[in-house]
Parts: sequence; structure tokens; C-alpha cells
Amino acid sequence: MPNFKKAIVLSNIVSKGLKFFNYEATSFPGRVVQKICPDFLTECNNYVNHPRFAVTGTNGKTTTSGVLSEILYKHGLNVINNKLGANMPNGIVTALSSGLYPKLKKNKDLFMADGVVLECDEAYFSYVANKFVFDYLLITNLFRDQLDRYGEMDTARKKIIKGIELSPDIKIILNADDPSLFEISDSLKHNGDKFIYYGITSVDYADYEKTSKSPSEAIYCPLCHDEILYNKRYYAQLGDWYCRCGNKRVNLDISARVLVYSDKSILDVKYKDKNFIFKTTLTGLYNAYNVLGAISAALVQGIEQKVIECALDEYSPVFGRHQKIKLKNGGKLTIHLIKNPVGASEVLRGLKNLQNSRMLISINDNYADGRDVSWLWDADFEALRDFNNVIYTTGTRSYDMALRLKYAGFNQSLLEIFDNTKEVSKCLKIALNDLKEKENLVVLVTYTGLLEINKNIKNITDDFGM
Ligand SMILES: [Zn+2]
Repeated sequence: MPNFKKAIVLSNIVSKGLKFFNYEATSFPGRVVQKICPDFLTECNNYVNHPRFAVTGTNGKTTTSGVLSEILYKHGLNVINNKLGANMPNGIVTALSSGLYPKLKKNKDLFMADGVVLECDEAYFSYVANKFVFDYLLITNLFRDQLDRYGEMDTARKKIIKGIELSPDIKIILNADDPSLFEISDSLKHNGDKFIYYGITSVDYADYEKTSKSPSEAIYCPLCHDEILYNKRYYAQLGDWYCRCGNKRVNLDISARVLVYSDKSILDVKYKDKNFIFKTTLTGLYNAYNVLGAISAALVQGIEQKVIECALDEYSPVFGRHQKIKLKNGGKLTIHLIKNPVGASEVLRGLKNLQNSRMLISINDNYADGRDVSWLWDADFEALRDFNNVIYTTGTRSYDMALRLKYAGFNQSLLEIFDNTKEVSKCLKIALNDLKEKENLVVLVTYTGLLEINKNIKNITDDFGM
């Protein structure tokens, strides 16, 4: 397949060029590949070993697939992962092409990747699965997200089901605590051992805000249309759910008891009558779910506890996803990606009692962020009502964000609004420059702003980091 190799080589040259000029190179090279070799994804079946994981769902895809990749890496497999979260077809093709490139260079003809962990946008899973054969699909959750792009949750669900139907041998690792995923397993339940279910049996909070204000709209039973009830509800619609008609959360194959601290979580995981204790420094219950998803996939692969522990210890998030950077002033910079009401509310919950910190909130409404920013009104920014230090707003929707904070009851005299045309990394530098000794900066940012910060991060840490 000469075009296959030509496409890999050319797209990697393009990628280098883009990076040299400081442009983002997570999707465009994929376009070049598909132009040169339209069957690229299908052809990849011959060049990628197993295991092959796809990760989909509304929230937590990048973290879940990042942790899983780290575990597989520690297990000795250098898997390909679209770690910057470019999860539409061009992003996936870019990741595959750049992952295959080093081996192609080395071996000229014979080259195989060790496997893949590819996060895939819910709306495009069926497109990718139609060409590339996955062994496993891990589904994290389905929340209301960017309605303008996907129509409704129902559409996302149908597209995932279609992708599964195109993959006769795929196994599904599914978060059973989310009743909105029930229809996926129900529609395919004739396939006996196709599903592996994970979920949480109890949650305790140590020094972490106990109450979740995540929007929890009523969820209706797909069988009888009555409202879903809960033995325990953890956040949003996630929990140990049941319905009066007898429908309920399935028996879990992999279950966890979780203890949440402000700086870590402890997971007591049960699988096949064995218990395993894991610790993660990714904070918040939403991250405990992400880590549990990755652990479940690893346990199913038969990976040893020690290897998983070691990976959890050493996993460093992609910049901008919960990563902390030490600053010269003695404080630290923390960046959180936000993109929908549930995810944002859970991040805000962890910031409620924040001390000695300033905050920068950057909201863009480019295509990859979702055009509709009305979700800001459903996210719990009221958690910042008593925040008693400066909040900067920036991004193309800087003024919408400022208005939202005003209605949340935040003190207007502490608000600093950047013009909506100003680049977020420049605003970030101004905010860092304003910090007093030992003050921290917490940044909440949507996807395209995160990419822009990421692009300039070396420059930023050179000036302000340790
Ligand atoms: Zn029911």
C-alpha cells in the first residue's frame, strides 16, 4: 500500500511544519492523510496490534483513555493515544499517523503499533468503527452536552449503538451507574457476555465538599417511562438507580467503594471476589469514575495490580487537565477543562472552599467548544458566590461569563473582564503577573482556549514557573 506509507510520511512533515510555526497540529495532518489515502483507517487494521480500545461518552474521555494508556505503557505496550483530546475522525487519523511514523522510519517495511486507546466523539464512533475494528469500547456516561451539535442525548445513544452493531466482536465496558446508558445494553442484551459493567457502591467524603449541585434533571425509565429512583445518587444522574417497574442498575462485574479527599481519592475495587486498593491524585468523584473505568479495562485485560498502581502514581495529566504547575511566587497554577453543566459543576464543587487563590475563566464558542454557551446558566457558578478574590473573565464569550458571575452573586468589584478579542494565553500572563506572594491561580477553560494555552505553555512556564 504505497499511498498508506506516503500519507504517513507527508502528514508528519506537515505536522512538523505546523508545530514549527506554532500552529496546532492535532487534526489538520489527518485531513492530509485522508486526502492521500482515503482508506487509511481501514488500512490501519493491518498495522495495529491488540488490544484496541475506543473510549466514548460525554465527560471523562481524555482522562480515562490517558490513564488506561499509561497502565498499558507500564505493562510494556507503547499504545497510540490521541492524548490531546482531538477525538473526531481527523484527530484520530492524525494520532494514528504520528504514532505509526517512528516505527515506519525505523523498519522501512515491517512495522506494527502495540495497540491503541482512542477516545472517540460520541457522534463519530460509528464512522470510525465502520472502518477500524476495536476489541473494546469503554463508555463513561451521557450528559447533556452541546445540544446544537448533537441534537439530543438520544441521537448520541443511537449513534453509539449503530457503531456497536457494526463491530460484531466488540466487548463493551460500561458505567452501569448511568441510567442513560441502559438502552445501549438493553438493545444488545441478546449478546450474553458482550458487556462488562462497572460502578460505585459507596462514596464517602473526607475533607471534600459533600453536596453536589450538578444539574440532575429527572431521568425516565426507558421501559415504562416512569421516573428513575435511587438507592444512592452520587452526582447528576449517576448512582445506584432503580424503577418501580423492576428495572434497575445491573449487577456490577467491577465495583468500587470510594473515599474522596481534597487532594486524592482512594478506591477499594472488587473484581472476581478479589479486592484491590488504588490511590489516585486526580481529585473529585468525577475523576474517581474516570480512574475506575481505566482500572476496569486493565483488570479485564489481566493486568497486575502492581502495574496499575505504578501507572496511577506516575500518570501526569495532559497539560490543562488537572495539572498543577509550581510558580516562582510560591503558589501554583491549576487548569481545568470545562465544557458542559455537569462537568463544570463538579469542578466548581471542588473549588468551593478555595483559599488564597485568584481565578481566570475563559469561555470560547468556536465549533470545537460548542457554539451554544447557554449551558453556563445550568452550571453551578453559585459555588463562587463567596469567592473573595479576583476573578478574570476572557474568551470570545468573556462578557457572557461576567454576566453569569454577576447573577451568581459574585462581588462585582472583584471582577476583571478582558476584552473578548484578547488571546487567553496573554490574559493568563497578565493574571500570573498580578499574583501576590504565595497566591495560586486556578484556570477554568473551554477546549480551544486550552489548546491555545497548551501551545504557549513553554513560554508561560519559562516566565512564571519553577
Ligand atoms: Zn420502569
